[in-house]
Amino acid sequence: MQEIRSFIQDVPQIVPESWCLKCKICCRFPDTKEVQTPTWSPLEADWAVKAGGQPSWFEKSPDSVSLNPTLHSCGESGYRCPAFQMEGNICSIYSVRPLDCRLYPFVLTRNPGKTEVLLAMDTKCPYIQAHGMDPEVVRYTATLTRTLESPAALDYLRTNPKIIGDFWPEFLSVGALGGMTADLQGQNTAPHPALQPLGWSQRSLLEESLSFLKHTYSGYTAAGILGWSDLIRYWWASLEGAFCLFAQQGGGVFMPLPPLGRSVRPEAFDAAWKILFESNQGSEVSRIEGVEPAMMTQEVLNRFRWREGEAEYLYRREDLAALRGDRYRSQRGAINRFQRWFPSFRSRPFQDQDIVPCLQLYTLWAIRRQQADPGSFSKALVRDGLFFHRRLMMSHRELGLTGRVLEVEGQIRGYTFGAPVSSDVFCVFLEIADRSFPGTNQLLFLEFCKELGDYPLINAMGDSGLPGLRRAKQAYRPVGMARVVELAGVEPAASAVRLQRSPN
Ligand code: SF4
Repeated sequence: MQEIRSFIQDVPQIVPESWCLKCKICCRFPDTKEVQTPTWSPLEADWAVKAGGQPSWFEKSPDSVSLNPTLHSCGESGYRCPAFQMEGNICSIYSVRPLDCRLYPFVLTRNPGKTEVLLAMDTKCPYIQAHGMDPEVVRYTATLTRTLESPAALDYLRTNPKIIGDFWPEFLSVGALGGMTADLQGQNTAPHPALQPLGWSQRSLLEESLSFLKHTYSGYTAAGILGWSDLIRYWWASLEGAFCLFAQQGGGVFMPLPPLGRSVRPEAFDAAWKILFESNQGSEVSRIEGVEPAMMTQEVLNRFRWREGEAEYLYRREDLAALRGDRYRSQRGAINRFQRWFPSFRSRPFQDQDIVPCLQLYTLWAIRRQQADPGSFSKALVRDGLFFHRRLMMSHRELGLTGRVLEVEGQIRGYTFGAPVSSDVFCVFLEIADRSFPGTNQLLFLEFCKELGDYPLINAMGDSGLPGLRRAKQAYRPVGMARVVELAGVEPAASAVRLQRSPN
């Protein structure tokens, strides 16, 4: 209860008081059926009554625990919230106003298909009309999204489900809320009684668990896991002294990484496998991904079947930061042409106000990519990628990411993000460039690699089996691959098999 109280009261209001005191829109409604009236949870109604409100202000919603206000007539202006005082244009219970009012002009709404919960801006609000794209509002959106994805926010939602309203044409969506969407779809019930939800508040536990060994694979980063949290629901359990991470997507449960810890006993694999098996009722979905060769002990091989997962390209950073010799002639040529054609370019660190232009660039890139490759696999990559890119941009500080953008005449033409996997390996998770400015990718990658002087190796992710991407990654002369395997089944694996080790 205390957590819900501090969560609600910590939500800052973006609109300055001076705007609200002059505004003639808020807290008034054209008729008593207005669906955009605020809703109260029973807890918030209790606070309002203790602060001088009347119990008669609230009507119990027939189909929910949420409470609606009994609107009062205010002559030609229509109706007003019972807490609103026309004289002075003020809320009489302002310090305990409900979350719905604290969020405004942001609103929680279902998408038109009613499958997702979105955070949106109400463009009727004069402040949004004037400042909706200001850097301060973009930063606030990122903070608010994080707050609304906290466990306390999900608990609150259960006490006031009607705060999520239907979509209106004047709403401008700023993104989906993964946790609330999962709740809407009934996915927040743990798939197994031994599992606990893994949210942003458990980030330090996750990071500590990832740090026991020196890894090369991108999945061993908070960004590589929580970056997907808008699409995947994560759970965890402590089993036989190991931290075990579970991922739930499309009704199935799998482990994106093996049990983690200073020294993981084979019994941790057994306990985790039992949870997978029971959660999936024995189906083939059960698997443990991201197992690095060093973890493939004979005891693990005795327990599971395995197959290779997608390998990731590893490069010597010094090679990429210098691009010396014949083997890098084409990359140097592309960079030289770019610098000749666009001499006013600027490469600089990513800032919060770059989120909107970078997402616009992603959309442009996605449209062109779809035109070039209309297949359903490519479509799914592009769609899922948008969630990943958006999450990395919005949570770049929390996820320890470094971002860089490339501007030409003040317009962003490329961006990239990465984070360390270990003290030796830095992973570049993504890079997007405007194809109308050839050479952007090459220059962006060069500038990024120059900046990362502390890391001997660069992981540039895999190629998703796409031939063009494979050629581009090979052209940078990898010195090795970060290999992982996927464990499945319960039969012993072929004991003679030996895995190729990554250069690290
Ligand atoms: S509770 Fe206060 S802020 Fe919310 S609608 Fe009523 S008067 Fe306005």
